[in-house]
Parts: sequence; structure tokens; C-alpha cells
Amino acid sequence: MKLSKSKYTRYWQCPKMLWMDTYKKELAREDPALERRFAEGNEVGDLAMGLLGDYIETTAYTEDGKLDIAAMLKNTKKYLAQGVENICEAAFSKNNCYCAVDILHKTADGHDIYEVKSSTEIKDVYLADCAYQKWVLESSGLKIGRVFIAYINNNYVRCGEVDIHGLFTIEDVTEKLQPFYAVVADNTRAALEYISQKQEPEMELGKHCSQPYDCPYWEYCSRNLPRPNVFDLYRIRAGKAEEYYKEGIVSFSDVLKSGIPLNDMQRKQVNFETLGLSTHVDKLGIKAFLDTLSYPLYFLDFETFQTCIPLYDGIKPFQQVPFQYSLHYIEEPDGALKHKEFLADENCDPRRAIAERLVEDIPQDACVLAYNKAFECTRLKELAQAFPDLSAHLLNIRDNMRDLLDVFRDGFVYDRAMGGSLSIKSVLPALFPDDPNLNYHNLADVHNGTEATDTFLSLRGMDRKQRDHLRQSLLAYCKLDTMAMVLLWQRLREFCV
Ligand code: SF4
Repeated sequence: MKLSKSKYTRYWQCPKMLWMDTYKKELAREDPALERRFAEGNEVGDLAMGLLGDYIETTAYTEDGKLDIAAMLKNTKKYLAQGVENICEAAFSKNNCYCAVDILHKTADGHDIYEVKSSTEIKDVYLADCAYQKWVLESSGLKIGRVFIAYINNNYVRCGEVDIHGLFTIEDVTEKLQPFYAVVADNTRAALEYISQKQEPEMELGKHCSQPYDCPYWEYCSRNLPRPNVFDLYRIRAGKAEEYYKEGIVSFSDVLKSGIPLNDMQRKQVNFETLGLSTHVDKLGIKAFLDTLSYPLYFLDFETFQTCIPLYDGIKPFQQVPFQYSLHYIEEPDGALKHKEFLADENCDPRRAIAERLVEDIPQDACVLAYNKAFECTRLKELAQAFPDLSAHLLNIRDNMRDLLDVFRDGFVYDRAMGGSLSIKSVLPALFPDDPNLNYHNLADVHNGTEATDTFLSLRGMDRKQRDHLRQSLLAYCKLDTMAMVLLWQRLREFCV
């Protein structure tokens, strides 16, 4: 089958993306979080199957574990003939176009389509997807009445077994679908023709490279652009970057010459790059920040997971659940650097244990530094709400938190190597170039927050030896995060000497 739902939506976002998938897939740089999102989408799809009551699923696999499309098509035909009320993964194909409908629901005079999404809102790309399904089914001779999308209700709070009627919101999108449906026939024809050509097509870069999804071929398609370029401007909207790019404003020199409006960070980014400026240090600003800190001084960093289907009672879909922290601390001026850490048991809700350890490890009224404290503060507030008996202490920690990011956000330190990014992963190598001890790539197994989440969630049921090894990797990763903050703080002090 040449087209499927996912191939159609790839074409809908950018025809060349589909062409690349067909002929140069090896050049894709997929988001490392994609695999887990895909697995989670499957889990959500399985859970939603019962939304309309009893159902029969068509899914079949070949001996080597692949989806058996032929068997699914056959099963669907059989269940349709039997008048089954709810067919899950109902498979259809027509003129080289294939789709499997999440739930095909029989009505008095035809069928309704239910598409399940592990997202908390309806996006245009979902409507394009549904329109394609409706078209394939109608082309196959089915009468389609209404089309619904079942998506995640982010106000749902788990209490006991997952209540699928609480977890999902079902919305009728039949009317919204119209403009997307009107172009499906032309699009499918054009898409099939597009991928039949062997010659690599040209495609302008633009906002379609990042909307609705980041394209995995960006590195390849933008390989001839100067680095950095207009698409790298700090927090530039995709539409704006496209507009400037089409006007021929590509390199940072073009940006400078054009006089386009820039925010403070973008101006700094462009000036430092084009003029080759060295590190900017505002000693007075840094000193004013450092003077607000006091001892004992703590450096705190959380690791969290978020899952679409809440794992435990009292948790909402996609809620950030802290499972680990690292805490470096210095008790008095020129005192020794000490370290504490916590990593939850992967088999139960980690929140109570982490909250208890936090109040044990951080005394009230202590000065606590985080990098981008909004994240840590929100987690502390959520823990305080969940555990009223620990609330006063947890909120005290939150209220005494200071943000190391402020130094960089306020522009007291800037280095060209930061490339306009204030993330600690950009600031650190800029201020400590070539320090192998601070290179996250030199860590084993866990190198970033996404991998930390995936690793923690994968521990359940793992054999003891592998589990223990990965827990050590998690501890090492989180420890480096707070060590990085300590070193940044020390470097700031050195700047002021
Ligand atoms: S990088 Fe942009 S132009 Fe290239 S395939 Fe992706 S979306 Fe299309």
C-alpha cells in the first residue's frame, strides 16, 4: 500500500518529507522521545477501544511480528458483514490508499469514525488525518455519518482503576473536517504522483519544517544554509523566520543589515556572532545577584516523568511527577561541598517518598538555587498540595529558592557559544569549553532529561543487575546537573574577583 494515514499527514505537512521517507529515510534525525510517544500512543489506543462498549479488534500479526494488513482487511470485511457494532482497527484500502480506523461504530444508517489521540487538544493535523480516513472508507463504499476525535481530558485525576470515560473527551469534528476533506482526493492523487518520481524534488524551507512537528530531515534540507542563520534566532516564531528567509534574510550578517526588529537576546546573539565578540561579563550585575544568596547554600535539581495515562491515584494526564533529585550543598562560606541524592523505587508512586526526603535533606529557610526555578517551584507546590502535613516545609523551600538562570536571563553573562540559548546545556560548554567532566556525552546510558525519564520508566520488571546499573547511571546524570550549577556559581564568583 503506497499511502497510509501517517504518510498522508507527512505529505500534508510537507510533500518532500514523504519523498524523503520513501527514498532517503536513513537521513532522518528522529527525536529521541518519539519512540516512547509512539508506544504511549499505542497504549492509549488500546485503552480507548472500550469507549463505546463491546468491540472486536481486527489486528493480526505475521509470523515475524509485523502487522498482517491482508488479514486485517479480511477480518474487517467479515465483521462488517456480521454487523459488529464496534470494530477496532477497522482496515480499508482503495486505490493504493490504506487506513485502519481506531473505532468504527455502526449506526442506524451507516458508520461513524472515532479517532483516538494521546493529546490534550485537537490539532489541524488530526483533522487532516480524519478527513483522509473518511475519504478512504467512503471510497470503499461505506456510508460515513459523523467523525469524532477522542482526546485526553487533562482535568481527569486518576482514582483507582483508570476510568476511560473520564480520561477521554469525545468531540464531534464532522463540520470542522470539511475544508480538510475537500482536498483529500486531490492530495492523495498528488502524493502518489509525488512519490512515484525518483528525482529528488526541491522544497523551500519554511514554517512547515517545524509545524505541526519538527521535521527529521531539517539537518539535511538546511545543509547549505550559513550557520547560524535566521531560523536559529532566539525564540523566533516559525512564521516570522519563514517570512524573513523568503525576503532573502538568511545569515546573521543579512539580519544585521536588514534592520529587522530583534529582541534583546536576539540582538546580542547577532552582534556577538557577526562581530566575533568575546564573553560579556557584567560584574556589578553578577555581584548583586550573588549578594542575595546566603549559607547554607543548596543546589537542587529534579528529574520527573509525565505519562499520558496517569500511573497512580491523584495524578492527572501529563502531570510532571518528580522521581529523583540531586542536592549539592555548602554549609558555610568556604565550607566543603557535600552531596545528597534521592532516587525513588520505580515500583510505586514516588511523590510521598521524595517529599519526605526533601524536608529531611533541606532545612527550613535555607537558600536553594535551581536553574530555571519555575520548574522546581511548581513541583514543590504540587507536592505540598498532595501532602498537607509536609506542606509548610515544602513551601518554605520553594519560597527560599533563587534562580541561577536570572544571571543569564538578565544578560549579566553572555558568550557567543551559547548561540542565544540559556539552557544549562548551552551555558555550561560555553563557560567551560572542552571540560570532559562536564560533557554529558561522556556519561553512561543517561545523557539528558528525556533519557532519564525513559530509563526510570523502563526499570520496572527489569532484571536486578541491569536495573542496578541503570539506577547508577540515573544518579550520575542528575548529580552532574547540580554539579554544573555549582561550577557555574563558582565561575560567577571568579568573575567578580
Ligand atoms: S526540512 Fe522542511 S523542506 Fe525538508 S523535508 Fe522537512 S519539512 Fe520538508
